[in-house]
Amino acid sequence: MSSRKLYTCLRCGKSFSKEDLDALAGMGVKCPFCGYRIIMKNRSPSAKRIKAK
Ligand SMILES: [Zn+2]
Repeated sequence: MSSRKLYTCLRCGKSFSKEDLDALAGMGVKCPFCGYRIIMKNRSPSAKRIKAK
């Protein structure tokens, strides 16, 4: 079972993995979608995805 951390942007509400954050390493922690700097960590045991219409 792989426990991967997910992060949720508090602005656009999109979730992304730590790998996405690592891609932005050096630029600080921010949302890869909108660039917002306030993100929330959350752990999801199952890989659920919320569809955004
Ligand atoms: Zn965002």
